[in-house]
Amino acid sequence: MSLAVIPAQATATTAAVPAVVGAHTAVPLVTGERVTYANLDHAASAPCLAAVRDAVDELLPYYASVHRGAGFASQVCTKVYEQARDVVRRFVGAHASDVVVFTRNSTDALNLLARSVPRGTSVVTFDTDHHAALLPWRGPRVTRIATPDTPQGAIGALAEALRNTLEGARLVVLTGASNVTGELWPVRELAAVARRFGARIVLDAAQLAPHRPVDIQQLDVDYVVLSAHKLYAPYGSGALVGRADWLHQAEPYLVGGGATKHVVDWGDHLGVGWAPAPERHEAGSPNVVGVHAFASACQAITQHGWDAVIAHEAELFARLRAGLKAIPGVRELSIFGAGQDRVGVVSFTVDGQDPGLLAAALSAEYGIGVRDGAFCAHIATRRLLGQAGSDSDRALRVSLGLGTNAEHVDRVLLALRELVEHGPGWKYEIVDGRWAPVNDPRPLPPFINA
Ligand code: PLP
Repeated sequence: MSLAVIPAQATATTAAVPAVVGAHTAVPLVTGERVTYANLDHAASAPCLAAVRDAVDELLPYYASVHRGAGFASQVCTKVYEQARDVVRRFVGAHASDVVVFTRNSTDALNLLARSVPRGTSVVTFDTDHHAALLPWRGPRVTRIATPDTPQGAIGALAEALRNTLEGARLVVLTGASNVTGELWPVRELAAVARRFGARIVLDAAQLAPHRPVDIQQLDVDYVVLSAHKLYAPYGSGALVGRADWLHQAEPYLVGGGATKHVVDWGDHLGVGWAPAPERHEAGSPNVVGVHAFASACQAITQHGWDAVIAHEAELFARLRAGLKAIPGVRELSIFGAGQDRVGVVSFTVDGQDPGLLAAALSAEYGIGVRDGAFCAHIATRRLLGQAGSDSDRALRVSLGLGTNAEHVDRVLLALRELVEHGPGWKYEIVDGRWAPVNDPRPLPPFINA
């Protein structure tokens, strides 16, 4: 395909959505042409909202220490940091008594909770979860459910697993939307089952929150984890939001300044009085810029309104899936079946095609960013590939969001069709385990070469 022949067409959907930074970024192709980058990898990291960039720019002249400074700029930063807790709390509909602990990302938040559960807690997970939700829980009291192929089956399997847990505290780990298939989990229904057994629930909303409103109270869950970089705020922040008691009592996640009330030298040991949560788990200088960006993204999305966000994605996603269906050999992965409601994420294989080579060619010849592999959910991806009748152990994932427009979707469909029918137009080789163009001529932006 010559990208020059893509007809000029309306790229917008019927819903106006908040602008992202980089919407017009031009990237080089191996042919020497430059095209507007089509970021179809929102599920990994979403582009920055323009409103978030502006909010960060507003803060930077005041950038200073948080909590420990007497200066005016420190007071501004401290206020911004603490206000962000309330913004994030409201964004997920948390109770006034819930704690908002700022973390680096969802992985960090889930590891913090795993360190904070009381000794002897029975933990139940589903084996299709992202590694961040699957791996932090170890030991004899962890039950991993082999995810059934219907939502009803998942509900029944959870009840069965909880029935078999020992007396004591119980925690169920749920995923809001799969990072492999985008499918929505029946969180409310699963939470209702967990409640019957007196279990607490943590919701991994990393993939759900950028696409749908999340409400702790409506869903009746105890904890929610979020990654700001998936929520259009790529400045290295995340959160664990939820019930305070375990977090108040747990050993601090990191030890150091900010997590203590006082430290006394008793000669043979240090006496330490730990602060309550959230400070207890936020030792060290906090990421005020990241937290401000995070809160600004929550505000921008809420103020714009979810209806437009959902309508924009639904329109593009329907176009994408219909187009994929029409490409011979495409096998879409699914946990609960093709009819299950999804956010804008789809993984698939194409018969006879290496997903890694397709991903490399989409980038090098079409200026499209997608993801290939097993998406940090190896058990899920392998199982779903087998169920789809694919002989590959990896898939290709296309994921969209606020930075996506109709031309991006049309471009990836056209490109896939061309690659399937004619093969790549450039030579590729495997370098460090990944496909790459031979003698890749694409220059990096000058700021990297400088
Ligand atoms: N949970 C889900 C569903 C995800 O998709 C991801 C990231 O892809 C994570 C957790 C981990 O997020 P992070 O890498 O921001 O910690």
